[in-house]
Amino acid sequence: MADNNNADETGAAGDESKQSLDLESKMKIKLNKDNFNEWYPDVIELANLSDKRYPVKGMNVWTPYGWKLMLNIDTAIRHELDSTGHGEVCFPLLIPKTEFAKEAEHIKGFDDQVYWVTRSGATELDIPLLLRPTSETAMYPIFALWIRSHSDLPLKTYQIVNTFRYETKQTRSFIRIREIHFFEAHTCHSDFEDAEAQIQEDLEIMRNLGKKLCLPYLATRRPDWDKFAGAFYTIGIDCVMPNGRVLQLASIHQYKENFSSAYGIEFEDADGSKKYVHQTTYGMSERLVGAVVGVHGDNQGLKQPPEIAPIQIVIVPILTKTARTEVLDKCNEVLKSLQEHGYSVHLDLRDIRPGNKYYDWELKGVPLRIELGPRDLKNQSIVLVRRDTGGKETLAWNDLLDGVDKTLKSVAESLYTGAQQLMDKFIKRFDDLQEAASWTGIIHAGWCGDQDCGLEMEEYLDRNILGVPIDSKDFSGSCLQCGKPTNLEIYIAKTY
Ligand code: ZN
Repeated sequence: MADNNNADETGAAGDESKQSLDLESKMKIKLNKDNFNEWYPDVIELANLSDKRYPVKGMNVWTPYGWKLMLNIDTAIRHELDSTGHGEVCFPLLIPKTEFAKEAEHIKGFDDQVYWVTRSGATELDIPLLLRPTSETAMYPIFALWIRSHSDLPLKTYQIVNTFRYETKQTRSFIRIREIHFFEAHTCHSDFEDAEAQIQEDLEIMRNLGKKLCLPYLATRRPDWDKFAGAFYTIGIDCVMPNGRVLQLASIHQYKENFSSAYGIEFEDADGSKKYVHQTTYGMSERLVGAVVGVHGDNQGLKQPPEIAPIQIVIVPILTKTARTEVLDKCNEVLKSLQEHGYSVHLDLRDIRPGNKYYDWELKGVPLRIELGPRDLKNQSIVLVRRDTGGKETLAWNDLLDGVDKTLKSVAESLYTGAQQLMDKFIKRFDDLQEAASWTGIIHAGWCGDQDCGLEMEEYLDRNILGVPIDSKDFSGSCLQCGKPTNLEIYIAKTY
């Protein structure tokens, strides 16, 4: 490998990160979300969500705070999958080249993104191994052994693992990286209809997750030229970032028998005949964290959705010399009471000014802050401050649990509403190609359905057709490219 290429692989190390700064120095930095492309890496460094100074490019370090956020999202995903009868599995990271090569379309789609292991110690391997870019080719040879008869179906599995893809574009924390925290569900069914029902269940899971993450999204059926390598069709789930670019959050694939025929995943049907299974997959990744950061944050920092926030409530004692012990005792009492009710709470006892603590927790996006000082002791109350609006209210001690519960719900609602407004702002209907070209957000338009027309449109606009909305109905318009009347509507956008 050439030297300059090596430099590209290891260029990220160094200490030029804002996360090394002390709190006072961080406080001097002004975040500006209007310049989203600078704001995004800055807020991640200042809030200490991820450390990209690891000496392999695109392979970032999860900090305790960032990892807790990811794990909370994983917990939400596990809850959805476990309660719909999926079993969690964990397959090996290394895949033999011989297995990877079995599905021709799939290998074409991933070949130049693959990391290879070619040696063990000093010995060249007979069959090179690759680091999974996704796990179809690891799982399916084994599925062929697990599935014998129709009573083994449906087989519903998922795993949460790291995957590896050699990205050539500029890397970006959580959005474009080379070692990816990845979720993948793989299911096998006796027929196409049962696999279609699985896709409906996947969409329901997505709706529940979208609510927990306070993220509205578009669900579209990708055009054929943009479907997952080896899929019969692909549904993409996208959200819009504040710069008008679209970020894919999830994808759901119908494989039909494309993989099962290549991997010999057969079952004996009730009538004794051998049939290939129908398969689906559902993929998501740490991009969910990227979306939470990008969509919700502001010039004060992150805004964590209450259901997944690493810390939901922070308590900041206002200490004076006279009432120190009493204030701390009450803070501990509030802490205990909230923890007993299942909240994730932190009592900030650092020896710094309360104002600096406020700044720090706003940066980290903690949804609620409780302030408690001598005056609150006298009034038997606390001050509750919400991160989303900065709104303050005084709560009597007796109303603590009710008040916290109600306010967290209200924070979640306002985050969702804000995200919905952001998306609405960026979606605009166009009938004229040239007018559409000047729009920075998502173009909503008609399409005749012809592939050449679609590709020309993509090239002219320098954007991608996301696809046809899965809940499309009653659309009438004309193809943005050729002008033919059509009932087919599409979204077109610049994508990450
Ligand atoms: Zn057309």
